[in-house]
Amino acid sequence: MTVIEQLRTALGDIVDTDPVALETARSDRSGHAAPGAPLAIVHAQTVEHVQQVCRIATATHTPIVVRGAGTGLAGGANAGAGEIVLSTARMTAVHEIRADDLLAVVEPGILNADLNELLAPHGLWWAPDPASRSISTVGGNIATGAGGLLCAKYGVVRDAVLGIDLVLADGRLLRLGHRSVKGVTGLDLTSLAIGSEGTLGVIVGATLKLRRLVEGTTCTVTATFSGVRAAAAASAAVTAAGIQPAIMELMDAASLAAVAALLDLPAPPTGTAQLTIQTDGPAAVAEADAVAAVLAANEGAVQVSHDREEGERLLAIRRSMHPAMAALGTTLIEDVSVPRSAMPAMFDEIARIEREYALTIPTVAHAGDGNLHPNFIFEGSVPPPHVWAAADELFRSAIALGGTLTGEHGIGVLKSRWLADELGEDQWAIQREITRVFDPLGILNPGKVFADHA
Ligand SMILES: Cc1cc2nc3c(=O)[nH]c(=O)nc-3n(C[C@H](O)[C@H](O)[C@H](O)COP(=O)(O)OP(=O)(O)OC[C@H]3O[C@@H](n4cnc5c(N)ncnc54)[C@H](O)[C@@H]3O)c2cc1C
Repeated sequence: MTVIEQLRTALGDIVDTDPVALETARSDRSGHAAPGAPLAIVHAQTVEHVQQVCRIATATHTPIVVRGAGTGLAGGANAGAGEIVLSTARMTAVHEIRADDLLAVVEPGILNADLNELLAPHGLWWAPDPASRSISTVGGNIATGAGGLLCAKYGVVRDAVLGIDLVLADGRLLRLGHRSVKGVTGLDLTSLAIGSEGTLGVIVGATLKLRRLVEGTTCTVTATFSGVRAAAAASAAVTAAGIQPAIMELMDAASLAAVAALLDLPAPPTGTAQLTIQTDGPAAVAEADAVAAVLAANEGAVQVSHDREEGERLLAIRRSMHPAMAALGTTLIEDVSVPRSAMPAMFDEIARIEREYALTIPTVAHAGDGNLHPNFIFEGSVPPPHVWAAADELFRSAIALGGTLTGEHGIGVLKSRWLADELGEDQWAIQREITRVFDPLGILNPGKVFADHA
């Protein structure tokens, strides 16, 4: 029997070979598409479905690409010729919500925003807040180690997962982690699975660490600066002053101008960069005043709003970055991260790369945690060589400043050729060996993350 026949015999009509669906599974939101179309998509609904797919894949040495909602920006969920797409998007159950233990036990396919809607009536929330929260799955968030706007104060996915149920390539089910606040039994395989991008196993369940909804008000401080370097220095000064905003977002002149054009707002003066900062909780007003003072002392033209709705309107400018870039052309959204004090130097590097490659690189940053998203705009579907050359310089600059290739989007297929540059050969080889312990045949997401390099 062929692989598809075996899948159909075992799993019936959850095996999908519709050409339109197969075409969709070739790409995520990175714009990159895998060569060729995959064999089939299996829309798993139970852990047993996932285990059966893995057993068939192991018996037939067929690669598996796990897929959540396909909103990834690194090509990690893209499936090509000869591969099975194992979708966990239909595994959406929430098994437990425990306000006393501040945890929830969920399946991987539930969307981040849907989960938070269910948690809110209990006075709870799951803090990781990727800008894609209404369209990305919790399983995908865990597999990519996602971040978002609130991370500097409330943490990333890595800070918000207690345990993971992981199906291995051969179909065995591991229950990693614990339900208790503390737990140091054995090696921390939960952490290893977070950010593993479908290379170690299939996440079929998660025990999430929750927070109580934040009480008190929200204040929003906006400040404009004559240039991005001043804005970056001001944000670093806020951090250095020991103030902990919930959100601290930076937009450079090119991104601010693009969003203003998209939203039909008055064009900002040439070169103007902006910080949008939100404080929350019982100390929100005092913290906003303290933030405003630091920004004013660092050349910012500052405005403070105590109105929650106006705050949302101000943040909508930042949240419109993706559509503003899409309106300019095809976008390669990059994702480097540097120590917060190195942000001004990183913007200097971006300016240098813009000059050397004759490019405009609109950049926004989660300034509270030093995570920058430089955007490369081009025509056509594939980044041209000079864009990759500029991106190459960008990655090298971030690493040289003590930073990293990716703060939240992952390595996937797009950054695998730079992975060894950051890890070094020895660590690259050890990490690759670790994947082989979980997946000896190398059938889980082959060619992603640890693709062979020269
Ligand atoms: C408009 C927009 C804004 C975004 N903003 C942010 C942001 O602020 N922060 C951020 O971090 N990201 C952001 N992203 C990127 C993306 O949404 C995240 O990476 C998200 O976590 C991916 O979730 P997904 O369900 O779409 O996963 P997919 O794209 O389907 O998969 C991503 C990776 O996870 C693996 N995977 C998925 N599900 C499982 C599973 N059950 N078991 C094992 N592996 C699995 C896949 O194999 C792949 O390697 C944004 C994307 C868009 C389009």
